Amino acid sequence: MASPTKIAITGGKGGTGKSTFSILLAKQLLQNGKNVLLCDCDVECPNDYLLLGQKLGTAKQKSYTEFPKLIKSKCKKCGLCAKGCRNNAIFAPVGRYPVFIKDLCSGCGVCKELCPFGAIKMVKEETGKIYLNKVISSKEGQKNFWLVTGAANAGLEETGPIVSQTKKFALGFARKNKVNIILFDTAAGTHCPVIHALIGVDFSYLVTEPTPMGAHDLGLMLDLCKKLNVKTKIIINQTNLGNKQRIKSIVKNSETEIAGEIPFSKQLLKAYSKGKLLNLKIGLPSYFNHSELLETTQRNAYKISSK
Ligand code: SF4
Ligand code: SF4
Repeated sequence: MASPTKIAITGGKGGTGKSTFSILLAKQLLQNGKNVLLCDCDVECPNDYLLLGQKLGTAKQKSYTEFPKLIKSKCKKCGLCAKGCRNNAIFAPVGRYPVFIKDLCSGCGVCKELCPFGAIKMVKEETGKIYLNKVISSKEGQKNFWLVTGAANAGLEETGPIVSQTKKFALGFARKNKVNIILFDTAAGTHCPVIHALIGVDFSYLVTEPTPMGAHDLGLMLDLCKKLNVKTKIIINQTNLGNKQRIKSIVKNSETEIAGEIPFSKQLLKAYSKGKLLNLKIGLPSYFNHSELLETTQRNAYKISSK
């Protein structure tokens, strides 16, 4: 079975409209006859389901992280494990047993591998849940797309593993259900959960805004995508509200292009604030379809209505 096309929607700065764009794109692809799955990878505060007026219901799957546990009878208090932990998640005073700080632990297992005495074992703990919604759009003739939502338990510092497990669930579901395109809506920032969301995607839209913060974070995100070997295109949201010069000069010096610009829209803002993006009449133009998603040549920017 053909693997679905995997597209990330990211951008660095929070509040630039990543989720809104993801939903508009999902609806657009649905209109174009695609079988679409939107995967909310912002596991610390997933909100695509709220913007779509959905309820999460019962979790389809739990997600787990493996945390280290000390076997005191085997520990020689050498402190090697603490020296090897890049997260500084182990406190090992000289001559005392090491203490593991779970909030800082990513569950990488390096400490277990480093311990010469086999005094560390990894223990699975539930750290989040994964949900599935069938989102039916009356505006698109009662067709549906799928929404997978990853949600981390509150208070976790390291949520990358939950993003990976959410993606794995989404990919498995997509293969079984003949999904053509998966959209991964990432968290803000360039940290570990965003990296987990970007790994393995075919392409990424970077949604930004014409502000100094938007441009700054866009530059960081372009660097990250280059390191991860992920191709990018830029979407400028609320394009008529700020100064695009900074973004244009960043784009000029990068291997990317501006794919589209979305003007400020009261109608869009109202639908967003009421969690009614599903019923929004305006959207991306019809020529913005799957065949263009992976195209790398320059083309005209698209617009949505700014009523
Ligand atoms: S599993 Fe990794 S992050 Fe956690 S304590 Fe061990 S080395 Fe540190
Ligand atoms: S490396 Fe092993 S033996 Fe040494 S302090 Fe850590 S757990 Fe104990």
